[in-house]
Amino acid sequence: MATPHTEQDRYARARLLPWWNQDSLSQAVVLVAGAGATGNEVIKLLALAGVGRVIVVDFDRIEQTNLTRSVLYRDGDVGKWKATTAAKQAEEINPEISTTAIVGDLEFEIGIGIFRSVDIVIGCLDSINARLALNLLCGKAGIAWLDTGIEAEFCNIALYGADRHGEAACFQCTMTESMWERRNLRFSCTGMPSDIATEAVPTTGVMASIAAGIAVHEAILHLHRLHLNSEYTAPPAGILPGERLTFSIQPYQVHVLSQSRHIECDAHMEMSPTIFVEADPAVFTPRMLFQACKVESLHAVLELGFDLCTQMHCIRCGCVETINRPIELVPVAMSHCPQCGLETRSPEQLCTVAHADPQMDMTLQTLCIPPWQVLCIKNPGGRIYVQISGEPMVFSPTGKPLEVRKDYANQEMKGD
Ligand SMILES: [Zn+2]
Ligand SMILES: [Zn+2]
Repeated sequence: MATPHTEQDRYARARLLPWWNQDSLSQAVVLVAGAGATGNEVIKLLALAGVGRVIVVDFDRIEQTNLTRSVLYRDGDVGKWKATTAAKQAEEINPEISTTAIVGDLEFEIGIGIFRSVDIVIGCLDSINARLALNLLCGKAGIAWLDTGIEAEFCNIALYGADRHGEAACFQCTMTESMWERRNLRFSCTGMPSDIATEAVPTTGVMASIAAGIAVHEAILHLHRLHLNSEYTAPPAGILPGERLTFSIQPYQVHVLSQSRHIECDAHMEMSPTIFVEADPAVFTPRMLFQACKVESLHAVLELGFDLCTQMHCIRCGCVETINRPIELVPVAMSHCPQCGLETRSPEQLCTVAHADPQMDMTLQTLCIPPWQVLCIKNPGGRIYVQISGEPMVFSPTGKPLEVRKDYANQEMKGD
């Protein structure tokens, strides 16, 4: 029997593959973390393949040097947000898909609920710290993710979090001592980021394209397994959860390495919410959240999930400056006291909010809780996971962005 798809069908050639199921792809939501060289190639291939919804997350603007490795950016785009430009271009490549651009910091501004709403995440990141953050987020959300990494003559692609029982390695499991050392160089002993610039690694569009090709192939296989339909033959085997594929062009070599689960790794804790609260973080306070969740114990605390720097305190002149930002986003330059010039102001930090704390009546937004976050309330009776809402998530065919980024850039300049 001939298939009903005619030459009008843009996916006709892909459908000739016996296992290809276009419906699996058009129903799928894929989040791409990072819209640099590899991200551009990944977004392009997802759009061509007809993946129904693509969410692009990036907090950077397009620079001149991006143009040699970024198929979605033009000269006139320099200075624009990478996420919004890439998302818009993807819809131009394939008007049948929709995209959402999120201009925001992966680690602190994207709620776990957004990750829970996608089928797979593709990481196109360039630092160990960002990979660790994405690994933790996907672990909390219980979502599979593909890690990509490129150098001039080498790339690698790994699959994490795709096994139901969490027995396979995650990215953090594979961290060696020297990787931890390199990562920790970025932070001072107080947890504030140091001034050391990340060194630029030589890369080419060719390597980005190879890494993206393999990663999108793996993502397509994963989406077929998720929506497996008996009508179709099973998709080809790809890499297994916890495996890393390495590809070298000098000399040509392909290897698949299995990586083992680290027994003490603490990044395998899924946060499955049991309560969903319509709570706009711009309005809601921890006290209101406790009430909405019917948490009455005075011993209950809200876990922020990160260290919040509440204030900078100068022991010499006694001045106190309100900060309310994650400690990892407070530049070391802010240790300098603007009043007396002391160079070692100490940050006051907080990772839980208890009944007696003044933060109990501050908005979640002030406490840097992003929309769609999954929060943990530690009650004497146990832990409660609650997902809050935020602005509606728009999957717009016109590429309307969901802007959640606060303007940290300006504050950083002020601190210098
Ligand atoms: Zn792990
Ligand atoms: Zn001072």
